[in-house]
Amino acid sequence: MKGAATIVALASGRPPAAIAVVRISGPLAWAAVGSLISAEMPEPRRLSLRRLVDPADGSLLDRAMVVVFPGPATATGEDLAELHLHGGSAVISGVLGALLSMDGIRLAEPGEFTRRAFVNNRLDLAQVEGVADLVAAETSAQRRQALALTGGALSRAADAWRSRCLDVLADAEAALDFAEDEADVADRLQVVARARLRGLVDEIDALVADASRGARIRDGLTIAVTGPPNVGKSSIVNALSLRNAAIVSPFAGTTRDPIEVPVDLGGVAATLIDTAGLRETEDVVEAEGIRRARARASAADLVMHVSDGTCSTSPDAGLVVVNKSDLGALAPAAAILVSATRGDGMETLRSWLVEWAKSTVRPGESVLLSHARHREAFVAAGAALAEAADTDDAVLRAESLRHAASAFGQIAGRVGVDDVLDRIFSRFCIGK
Ligand code: GDP
Repeated sequence: MKGAATIVALASGRPPAAIAVVRISGPLAWAAVGSLISAEMPEPRRLSLRRLVDPADGSLLDRAMVVVFPGPATATGEDLAELHLHGGSAVISGVLGALLSMDGIRLAEPGEFTRRAFVNNRLDLAQVEGVADLVAAETSAQRRQALALTGGALSRAADAWRSRCLDVLADAEAALDFAEDEADVADRLQVVARARLRGLVDEIDALVADASRGARIRDGLTIAVTGPPNVGKSSIVNALSLRNAAIVSPFAGTTRDPIEVPVDLGGVAATLIDTAGLRETEDVVEAEGIRRARARASAADLVMHVSDGTCSTSPDAGLVVVNKSDLGALAPAAAILVSATRGDGMETLRSWLVEWAKSTVRPGESVLLSHARHREAFVAAGAALAEAADTDDAVLRAESLRHAASAFGQIAGRVGVDDVLDRIFSRFCIGK
């Protein structure tokens, strides 16, 4: 079993940095720290200054803050240690090298610390997904949603639904035991059970209907920027993105405008897809990127049509922007008039987009389902509950209720999730 090895990794970002944190988890975590420090072991859970010495030759590796945590009440459920080093490459490689030369210690795989937390019941699967979201969160709405998931909000809700299913199941099974002459009692129980089940189905339907809002907070809204050439689409995208966006492509000697530009709309993540960048190309990699951007643009949450006042507007557009006001462009009443180069009207445009983003995803209101996996489990549970409500057959009802309970159980990941584990943990970086 993997848990037997002691694992080590750099948990902080790319050096050089002020501080680098090396994590060690497993049965040898404390022994490993002990063999690097010349003084006594620090008290558990107390950050203590220690000299770290290479056991191979006695040379000084760093003066560092060291902390050890006794398992199982730790992030991984195992003995754990952290070394807060000076964040230089040579310090980090010296310390990692010394640790990895010890028997029974190896470099951690991506996500392995979190995987151990899952295996040791410190986190359930929905919480693990929340941790991955939290590390990836770029906006305040994403952070809030990820924190709720990590904190177990969805797991608790799924558990509550699961036990409600099991309550109805217990009654359904009791009804199976009624003798023939008690048929009227069984009938009355049927009616009650059916009403309870319909109530559950309605609640789940409402949650599933709200799931796209959660997915949009997590993945970001998409805004397709359309319009004829040269009206200033790229200039507007650049101005909104708050960074001058010409990115260097991975291919030597070329610079191209980005097609998808991330923006933060008042705490809501969004991506502007600049359709000016969607051109024909011979390059296979770029062509694939363009194919995806085109697909995303056609499914965009908002079409922002840009003109310079000389051309017609687009009837499909959710927002019409007329650019080049400095050249005397005039806008119809519903349009926003801007000058991308001078900045006139750009604040009005930004505020319009922020209001639109907020009203679309309502970031302050919590949403339970943000992952496709969670949505699928709730859809399956809802379908099973609807079956249970519709049938008159007590045996079939019990069977459907068991299906529903097991679908809710998949949220926490204790049953039937072996095939998704690798996919979920592959989202993590090494050291997490
Ligand atoms: P796109 O083809 O729609 O993406 O247009 P670009 O953003 O590449 O802009 C086309 C040209 O219009 C460039 O030369 C820009 O400098 C210019 N341009 C963009 N916005 C404005 C503006 O507000 N006023 C003026 N005068 N020129 C602009």
